[in-house]
Amino acid sequence: MINKRMQALGRERSVIRELFEYGLKRKAQLGEDKVHDFSLGNPSVPAPSELSAELSRLIDECDPVALHGYTSAQGASDVREAIADHIKREHGFPARSDRIYMTAGAAAALTSALTAVVCEGDEVILLTPYFPEYRVFIERCGAKVVEVETDESFCPDVTAIEAAITERTAAIIINSPNNPSGAVYGEDRIRALADVLKSGEERFARPIYLIADEPYRELVYDGADVPYVPSYYNDTIVCYSFSKSLSIPGERIGYAMVSPRAHDDGAVYEAICGAGRALGFVCAPSLMQRAIPALLGVTADLETYDRNRRMLYDELTSYGFYAVKPSGAFYLFLRSPSGDGIELSERAKEHELLLVPSDSFGCPGYVRISYCVKTEQIKRALPAFKRLAESYGLGGRDE
Ligand code: PLP
Repeated sequence: MINKRMQALGRERSVIRELFEYGLKRKAQLGEDKVHDFSLGNPSVPAPSELSAELSRLIDECDPVALHGYTSAQGASDVREAIADHIKREHGFPARSDRIYMTAGAAAALTSALTAVVCEGDEVILLTPYFPEYRVFIERCGAKVVEVETDESFCPDVTAIEAAITERTAAIIINSPNNPSGAVYGEDRIRALADVLKSGEERFARPIYLIADEPYRELVYDGADVPYVPSYYNDTIVCYSFSKSLSIPGERIGYAMVSPRAHDDGAVYEAICGAGRALGFVCAPSLMQRAIPALLGVTADLETYDRNRRMLYDELTSYGFYAVKPSGAFYLFLRSPSGDGIELSERAKEHELLLVPSDSFGCPGYVRISYCVKTEQIKRALPAFKRLAESYGLGGRDE
């Protein structure tokens, strides 16, 4: 018999994918330049030249059988060593290679980590707005999502988190820099979060794992700092991805790192290895694993995103729209003037603007604009945004 829950998941495309497919149809009808697609978080800048240089070197110099063969289930040991050394250098944190599990991107790191520490009937706290796939990953574990609202700048409301912790809380996922709000959580907030989680652990005599989902760590603006979460809270699992920093989302490479300071860190790591095995995730893509040591600390040219961010934020707010200025990632979270994000997304389509309604992010009333696009696309779309603002009777600033 077919698993109906899985069938339903496969049948219903995400809202983001739905909008993207709609965009492809509209582009075929009207022409590429006439449709302003801000739906997907697909990096728009090329991967750094260091990547192709390293891939060529590996292909020229390495034994092809080893290069394209299986690595250890948890990833090649020299690759994990290089990552642990990089974390020590960058963050002064005592990472260990035997606590790092190589994965096919952050998605596989998240599902492995959740499967490792979340059991049937547990609760996992998500801060709204959140990446919609978290809900899919958590519910697959037979656990319940507990949504907690963030504050007016989309940063964690630690009092609300404290109130949401129960004897069933197994984990909380945080994502800073954030998709979809662009918020970056500062050090004070991470410290305060660590304090309430520690007191929750004591209150209920069980570990509460902090899963730090970090695919956007390097995408920050105006000198924003992204604190290294394991330095503040021991029961942390970092889910990292090279998808966005290196512009290689299709290559599927990332890792889960268990803090060596976590309760039962060895057992948590074993459970991640077991989850990887149960999910069929062992042995992340070999060629990409081998390329990673030469690319640690390297990024694609991220300047375009900052330029796009400033242009979009300045222009849209000058037309009368409201958004919190993003400090990281490549999304602008725009408040709907009508209070209804779906209505705004539908009305935007009339102007050939594809903006993702925020309901599936657990935070209705907004749209997400992915500005990982060519700057030219933003320039072309501005008149349509202006007409959209005018359709709400928004008062723009005088030029
Ligand atoms: N987490 C967040 C917040 C994301 O936005 C994404 C992708 O967009 C992922 C995880 C998945 O990343 P990956 O491509 O590395 O699996």
